[in-house]
Amino acid sequence: MIELKKTSKTYKVNGKAVEAVKDVSLTINKGEVFGVIGYSGAGKSTLIRCINLLEKPTSGEVIIDGKNLSKLSKQELQKTRRKIGMIFQGYNLLKTATVYDNIAIPLKLEGVNKKLIQKRVEKYLSIVGLLDKQNHYPSQLSGGQKQRVAIARALAHEPEILLSDEATSALDPETTEAILSLLLKINKELGLTIFLITHELNVVQRICDRIAVMENGYVVEQGTVVSLFTNPKHPTTKRFVESENTFTIPSEIMASYRSTGKLVSLHFVGKELSEEPALALVSRKFNVLPSILAGGIEQLKNHTLGKLLVHLRGEKEEYEQAITYLTNQGVIVEEVN
Ligand code: ADP
Repeated sequence: MIELKKTSKTYKVNGKAVEAVKDVSLTINKGEVFGVIGYSGAGKSTLIRCINLLEKPTSGEVIIDGKNLSKLSKQELQKTRRKIGMIFQGYNLLKTATVYDNIAIPLKLEGVNKKLIQKRVEKYLSIVGLLDKQNHYPSQLSGGQKQRVAIARALAHEPEILLSDEATSALDPETTEAILSLLLKINKELGLTIFLITHELNVVQRICDRIAVMENGYVVEQGTVVSLFTNPKHPTTKRFVESENTFTIPSEIMASYRSTGKLVSLHFVGKELSEEPALALVSRKFNVLPSILAGGIEQLKNHTLGKLLVHLRGEKEEYEQAITYLTNQGVIVEEVN
């Protein structure tokens, strides 16, 4: 488990204080995939670097499995750090070493014996699907393959926590999806806790259990992926969610829909997608005719999230009853104004 307690980091730049992280408290459970999302300059990189003490917090605590990192001796800190692997946007591979050596060299420096090194390199290269590339050099690999090598290198130390610093930001959408699937596989099969930072909504949406939104050094909102996607509260969270999930309706059409009923956006989470046909039943139970104007489905880590933009044609009293009914059926209803 990772606990951040009122963690702050202030840099001194030309005598001026830059408060990169302010008073951040988070708890990341064992086996969880936790994402921090925010725009550039929000403080994400500084925060993730505080977790393995690459940056020493100015105040507050970083506690890993009950151990307060700033209170550990150098030796103990080194031991705890071994539990934490890290991958980066830029892969950080040695250009002059083969794939095999990129993974083997850090193990050798740690004093792991040759036989075990070979076993680990082969095991983790096969997990990331690159066993056949062990004699290649990084320049002979695609971006996605380089990131797979970096993941295998991190896993070869058999860490309990994997920190991911914008690991998919330099990759095209298809390769991003493949790397995210790989991270999910590692999380599920090896039980690894993953803490990631990103500015991309699709990353947190696809693989995280919970998210924190950062702005200006602060965590401004945190919660499960489903709750933040269906009910974002802070303006920054709303901006992120709306950047991907909103249907734009031309104003003339909007006016005509408004005069004949109510426009609503509906979220269906997980099982509700396939059980009671709540929306179809609306027209039987109430004097309301629903028309679906737009829709989509997102695959989250543990749920499917469906979103529909629906016009409920009917009188106010009727559509209000329909909205209450839908809400009681577990559909998340948001009125569109
Ligand atoms: P993000 O990862 O969200 O883009 P960063 O943590 O990189 O945010 O940066 C947060 C703030 O801290 C920015 O204002 C940045 O300029 C500043 N900052 C980051 N690293 C340093 C550093 N080593 N020295 C001085 N200021 C820094």
